[in-house]
Amino acid sequence: MKKYNFNAGPCVLPRPAVDAAIEAIRDFDGTGIGLIEISHRTPGWERVMAETEALWRELLGIPDTYAVLFLGGGASTQFFEVPANLMRSKAAYLQTGVWAKKAIKEAKLFGEVTVVASSEDKNYTYVPKGYTVPADADYFHITTNNTIYGTEIHTDLDSPVTLVADMSSDIMSRPVDVTKYGMIYGGAQKNVGPAGVTFVIVRKDLLGSSERKLPTMVNYATHIGAEARDNSMFNTPPVFPIFVMYQTLLWVKAQGGLEAMYKLNKKKADLLYGEIDRNPLFVGTAAKEDRSLMNVCFVMSSGNESLESEFMSFAKDRGMVGIKGHRSVGGFRASIYNACPLESVEALVKCMQDFETSKR
Ligand SMILES: *Cc1c(COP(=O)(O)O)cnc(C)c1O
Repeated sequence: MKKYNFNAGPCVLPRPAVDAAIEAIRDFDGTGIGLIEISHRTPGWERVMAETEALWRELLGIPDTYAVLFLGGGASTQFFEVPANLMRSKAAYLQTGVWAKKAIKEAKLFGEVTVVASSEDKNYTYVPKGYTVPADADYFHITTNNTIYGTEIHTDLDSPVTLVADMSSDIMSRPVDVTKYGMIYGGAQKNVGPAGVTFVIVRKDLLGSSERKLPTMVNYATHIGAEARDNSMFNTPPVFPIFVMYQTLLWVKAQGGLEAMYKLNKKKADLLYGEIDRNPLFVGTAAKEDRSLMNVCFVMSSGNESLESEFMSFAKDRGMVGIKGHRSVGGFRASIYNACPLESVEALVKCMQDFETSKR
């Protein structure tokens, strides 16, 4: 049976990227030796590193004043590396979900944290607005897409202080004005690759701004410049996930870049939310204006709650994979990242319609 992959992360990747990775593991770059068996100091690999960084810069329009780093440790490691590198005494955070909350917990180890607003009161089903960011904060941290709750900040915010964004689950899903941010980071495994590599885009003038003594690996400056063989090669980089990310970005570029990705993502999301709003058996959980284009959360409508497990197995029988909602929201979550084809969303919509018909 054909499978439609709606996993939240790690998740579906472009088929050409997966195929290229399989081939490279057998034979990297025509060397006769596999990608995961070569030194990261070989010219072929250094070219992959350079081209991957160049693709990031080209697709997102990242100016030279920013460093682009590929590190280990996941977005969760950035939760403490951000304050370690950027917080002198005080930082502001927007609490839009448990990932934001985890970032806040780590930041508190380094100084004073002001939570400017939180949507915890309604289980993070909306993005707070109308808050004030203290002008004396060293930075303001946001989570642009809340993977678990299906809410998203759709625009690049104006911030009175340096803006730092966890874009783990919506990076490369739309064009972004990088110059509005001091730093953007995330785990690759939701939209740009497999697990194991973390992207960090940081404005170079912010380096050292915490004036704190840092362990070598925690200091972003370590991973930039000659000692790091230009970038991200101070120590062994995660070569395999970087290679798959490289291939994924080549695919994004071939699709027409971020404008094209955004158009397709909007089309997929509109289709699915349209069905959720039309179908009397289902209801969306996120506030409409904050609905994520990446993670679509829905539950059975009032009076139909008892049908949840029945729909789950109905969908499973039709090849739907990974649509179970996160335990803190319940119901269903379809993650429709860049590499999720329109065809998968059409199949899910059809499945919801067939389920409705079966209940008449
Ligand atoms: C998944 C996720 C994380 C955690 O990423 P790891 O790489 O597993 O540490 C952090 N923030 C957001 C928004 C996420 O979706």
